[in-house]
Amino acid sequence: MMLMSIIDNTFGRQADIVIPDIPGYQTLKGDFHMHTVFSDGHVWPTFRVKEALRDGMDVIAITEHMDYEGFPDEIEKDYNKSYEIAAAAAKDKGLMVIKGVEISPRVPPYHHNAIFLEDANSFPIDYMENTHQQFIMKDSVTRDQVMAPFLEAQRQGAFVSYNHPSYKWWDKKDTVLFTDFHQELLDKGILGGVEVVNSGRYNIIAHRMAMKYDLTMLCNTDEHYDMYPRYADTHRPMTLVFVEERSPEGVEEAMRAKRTALYFDDYIVARQKEAEALFKAAVKATINSIDRNGEPILSVTLQNTSDIPFHLQLKSRYDIELLPLGQLTLGPQEQKEVVLKAVWKTPDETQLAVTVGNVLVTPDEALETVFTFKDLNQ
Ligand SMILES: [Zn+2]
Ligand SMILES: [Zn+2]
Repeated sequence: MMLMSIIDNTFGRQADIVIPDIPGYQTLKGDFHMHTVFSDGHVWPTFRVKEALRDGMDVIAITEHMDYEGFPDEIEKDYNKSYEIAAAAAKDKGLMVIKGVEISPRVPPYHHNAIFLEDANSFPIDYMENTHQQFIMKDSVTRDQVMAPFLEAQRQGAFVSYNHPSYKWWDKKDTVLFTDFHQELLDKGILGGVEVVNSGRYNIIAHRMAMKYDLTMLCNTDEHYDMYPRYADTHRPMTLVFVEERSPEGVEEAMRAKRTALYFDDYIVARQKEAEALFKAAVKATINSIDRNGEPILSVTLQNTSDIPFHLQLKSRYDIELLPLGQLTLGPQEQKEVVLKAVWKTPDETQLAVTVGNVLVTPDEALETVFTFKDLNQ
C-alpha cells in the first residue's frame, strides 16, 4: 500500500517530487506550454491531464498553435476545446488548467505564449495563408498583421512570454534575438516572460535576456507527444511558482511578480531571493560543540528535506575535515555530518558559507549563502 501511494505502477514513475514551500508562499509545480491534437500535438487533452497528475503537477497550461491545425478533417477548429476537455478531466483532482495559445509566426518576434486568457479563438491570424496540416505564411506580411494577436492578448489581459528564443531561427536575418519587435512588446507592457528552459534544455541566451529585461523565467516542456520517454532518466522539467494563494489568480499574480524557479535535471535557476529561500527551506543546518576523545570539534548536520540534490562547496574559518575544497553532495532527503576542527575554544558564534553549484542565480553565478550558528556556549 505504501509503495502504491508513491509509485504509479501504470506509468512506473515517482508520482510526486518533494519540494518545500518558502516563507510566505506555497510552492506549486507548473508547466505552461504543451500541445494536443487540437494543433500539432499527438495526444488527446485528457492525456495531458493524466500525465500531469502522474507527475504531481499543480498547474498546467494548454497552448495550441493558434495558426496551425494538425487534423482539420477529423477535428473541428476550436482552440478553446482542448482547454475545456482538459479542465473537465482535471476537475476536483487538485490540478489547475490554464487557458492559453501559442502565437507562432516564423518572422520576428517568433513564438510566444499568451496564457490566462478568455478566448483562444479570437486571435487574428491574418499573416497566415494556409493552416491545414502545414504552416504557410502569406508572401508579404505586414508588421500590423503580426502585431495583431499580441494586441488581442493584451486586450484579454493575458500574460505573454517569449518561447524558446533562437529555436529554428527561420529567417536567419536577425543577429540579435531580442528584436525591435520585442522592444515594442516590452514598451507596450505586453511581454512579461521568457522560456529559459524548453523541453528540458537550458538556454543561456534566454537566461541573459530574462536578467537584462527583467522578465519572468519559465521552464516548460512544450511537449507534443507522450513526455515519459524524454524524461525517463530524470524528472519532468517544471516551473516552480511561489504563490500567496493556490488558485489560477494566485499563479498569475506570482508570475507577474516574477516569483518563479526553474527545476530541470539537477539544476535550479532562479533569482537570488527565490533561490536562497528555496535552498534554505530545503536544507536545514544544525551545529553541536563536541568533545571527540578529548578533541574539541564542531559537528554540523546538514539535512536535505527535499528531493532536489544539492552540490555544495563549504567554507568555514575552521578546517573542514575529509572534504577536499569543502565539496559535498547532499542527495535527496539525505543527511550528512560535517566536522569543523582545530576548535581550541568553542566560539559563541560561527558561520558556514555555502556555494550551491547546481543553483544558478545568474547565467554566470551559483547561489551563495551563509548558515549562521549562534549561542554555541549555551
Ligand atoms: Zn513554439
Ligand atoms: Zn509549442
